Amino acid sequence: AHLDRIAAVDDRVHAFLHVDTEGALAAARVVDERRAAGEELGPLAGVPVAVKDVLTTKGVPTTVGSKILEGWRPPYDSTIVERLRAAGTVMLGKTNMDEFAMGSSTEYSAYGPTRNPWDLERIPGGSGGGSAAALAAYEAPLSIGSDTGGSIRQPGAVTGTVGAKPTYGGTSRYGLVAFSSSLDTPGPCARTVLDAALLHAVIGGHDPRDSTSIPQPVPDVVAAAKRGATGDLTGVKLGVVTEFSGDGAEPGVVAAFRDSVEALTKLGAEIVEVSCPHFQYALPAYYLIAPSECSSNLARFDGVRFGLRVGDDGNRSLEEVMSLTRDAGFGPEVKRRIMLGTYALSSGYYDAYYGQAQKVRTLITRDFTAAFEQVDALISPTTPFVAFPMGSRTSDPYQMYLADLFTIPSNLYGGPGISVPCGLSEGLPVGLQVMAPTMADDRMYRVAAALE
Ligand code: GLN
Repeated sequence: AHLDRIAAVDDRVHAFLHVDTEGALAAARVVDERRAAGEELGPLAGVPVAVKDVLTTKGVPTTVGSKILEGWRPPYDSTIVERLRAAGTVMLGKTNMDEFAMGSSTEYSAYGPTRNPWDLERIPGGSGGGSAAALAAYEAPLSIGSDTGGSIRQPGAVTGTVGAKPTYGGTSRYGLVAFSSSLDTPGPCARTVLDAALLHAVIGGHDPRDSTSIPQPVPDVVAAAKRGATGDLTGVKLGVVTEFSGDGAEPGVVAAFRDSVEALTKLGAEIVEVSCPHFQYALPAYYLIAPSECSSNLARFDGVRFGLRVGDDGNRSLEEVMSLTRDAGFGPEVKRRIMLGTYALSSGYYDAYYGQAQKVRTLITRDFTAAFEQVDALISPTTPFVAFPMGSRTSDPYQMYLADLFTIPSNLYGGPGISVPCGLSEGLPVGLQVMAPTMADDRMYRVAAALE
């Protein structure tokens, strides 16, 4: 049924870069056979799932939305995909994204944009617009995203779906094509909080193949989501981030957020204002740290090891082929970030830019630590504005970067964040973000589930 749905609507939505019809039907058949044989099945046996094209899938094209990896079929599965298969899920295909996960609208995909199912003239968020649009268009019940600065939560907010960024290190980065290694976090996308929790439980947990993976089990996010769904938040203390509660967000977003805060109060939560004075520096710090790490990570795309190779006619030097390949293979936003990052890391500038940004990162972490001494979780709107018209922010990078104003702090800190639908503004979905302390992912699921 999902393959039929994809066939019916995806020429308009373009959530998928690759639909693995044969692989999906084969996986579904295996589940059927195992069920018929009375074998024990995985926790999500037979449930279709769409995977952001940032995760390697053995033998199935993985492009990261870039021309530089066009035609590349990885020889191995990422840990997330391996765990999805072990749980019995049926992978439908790979979803569209901004090139190398750099963007907030999926307009920077080298394969054309994804459209928001709520209004096809608007963006579905990014970088994981494909994973969110696939849910909103009922092409998949579950999907996987990756969140470096907001790429799971912001698309969730603008498509009226749920997106959770787990604690950094709570989900494995093995086989996740690296953008900014100290921030990249794969996570679950779904249409309900409980569905996201069920998916989170399957993909999360320690992985010895990722050196930053936390050697602890996933908090019981499923039990927490079920508890939250009872609608009782008595004894839960929530902090509204002063700096993010009004200024900088559209009036319709602020109104929907305020209504939800009231709803949370009615469910028994105690609401207090919490000031996080350094959050206002998160965006500039992020745009030094993320490009710096990207400039280093993307050095591996040299035209030799995988994907595209341009100008290799037998007469050119290795350097020339490398340069021609990178020039043809990377899009403008990726080039902008590589140049920014290379500059910020160069000797003489390192202390002034990268070093300074790392200090800001520490101050933001301190803001979170102080806040969580007062409250169980922090809340804010997920994004300053609802889904914007396609093309309206592509000419000014800063306008695009602003989409992640409220989501970036928790990436710099490493704690979990979730976006849950919290109403409409002019007919378009608004998201509410819940942020929790590191490894307290269960808390955010409880609060988010109570709002549904
Ligand atoms: N929009 C942000 C960026 O462009 C975040 C991207 C992400 O989370 N992958 O970097």
